[in-house]
Amino acid sequence: MINGNHFSLILLATNQCNAACDYCFEEPTHDRLSLDRLQIIIDKVLGHMDAHQIGALTIHWQGGEAMLLQPSWYVRAFELIRDAAAAHGKHVEHGLQTNLLAYNSDWNGIIAEMFGNSLGTSLDYPNLYRKLPGQSPEQYNTLWAHKVQMARAAGIDVKVISVLNQGTLEIGAESFYSHLVDELGIRDFQINTPFPGGETNKTKQNLSLDVSELARFHRELADIWLERGRDDNVQIGPFDQLIDYFSHRDACLPCIWGQNCADDFIAIDARGHVAQCDCWVTSYPEQRFGNLFEHDSLSALLNDSHAREGFTQRPVKLVQGDCLQCDYLAMCHGGCPVRTYSVHRSLFEKDPYCHLYQSLFQHLESRASQLAATART
Ligand code: SF4
Ligand code: SF4
Ligand code: SF4
Repeated sequence: MINGNHFSLILLATNQCNAACDYCFEEPTHDRLSLDRLQIIIDKVLGHMDAHQIGALTIHWQGGEAMLLQPSWYVRAFELIRDAAAAHGKHVEHGLQTNLLAYNSDWNGIIAEMFGNSLGTSLDYPNLYRKLPGQSPEQYNTLWAHKVQMARAAGIDVKVISVLNQGTLEIGAESFYSHLVDELGIRDFQINTPFPGGETNKTKQNLSLDVSELARFHRELADIWLERGRDDNVQIGPFDQLIDYFSHRDACLPCIWGQNCADDFIAIDARGHVAQCDCWVTSYPEQRFGNLFEHDSLSALLNDSHAREGFTQRPVKLVQGDCLQCDYLAMCHGGCPVRTYSVHRSLFEKDPYCHLYQSLFQHLESRASQLAATART
């Protein structure tokens, strides 16, 4: 956290991508971070941590496509960051989010050393929008599945993010679960709701889903997971975190339900632009906090940013509306700013998926009570 003892940085090593997904919210450019520019960014991030007495940093490497830089680049980046962090007495961890399309065995060494032999990737089911340039979603699926298989064979733990679409609602929760868990063997995945981020196009104009249908899908998928997956160590976010939360165990809820994501993250892209997260940094130039290469320090950039003020004020503004009456305010906090902004062009509205969240919270609160009652008998 920015205000706690931990700081999370989403770092776009490049804004370039080798895929051409119809719903992508990023603005693809050819910019890539040089090691010299990485050194400047890291020095300023560590300086900010010194100023706020923050001891630990997690860097989430993303793009564009993070694997468009070579493994040898990451070897040098890892050393550069390790040495800089040691000089400041800080602890740094790294995470990798990649579409895996450029993965080959040359990556295995650095994935083990830098990323703890684990990575995150994305696939939707059915895949309507994820594509290689000029190719079909089916061709993307085939290549992606091959790369996942290779990575797994090398002992890499692969986690998957799946964005729901109209096709997912039509095939239903049972087919969705069977495909991901039984057919593809994915044991740890997270489902995300879509939002029309960045420059508009025809796909994004038709991304919105019926929220009642979406809520029904979530409830049914949660029930299937509770019945078949939970005791078999299958993890599905956000269900596993919500069951923990409603069972009064430690729960790490996703950022969409954080107290204020402005306290938890920043993103920096390959041009040095700083914004709330990867959903903003290339997509909404008007909401950027500034450019790190044009400021002496990250602390000054964040303090002086008018755009960032909007994020910090959002929770206070939302409790002046509907959210104040909500039973789940203390865990939801009004939902995700970018999902709100992509629909309302304002931060000061509640998340458009509010009805989904309430329905899911009620359902999993009740299921957690049933689990507790069963455990007592
Ligand atoms: S969604 Fe991800 S993989 Fe697809 S084009 Fe955008 S950055 Fe690339
Ligand atoms: S804007 Fe939404 S996706 Fe981005 S960090 Fe905040 S809650 Fe998460
Ligand atoms: S569930 Fe809806 S009303 Fe409740 S806090 Fe979240 S956005 Fe606000």
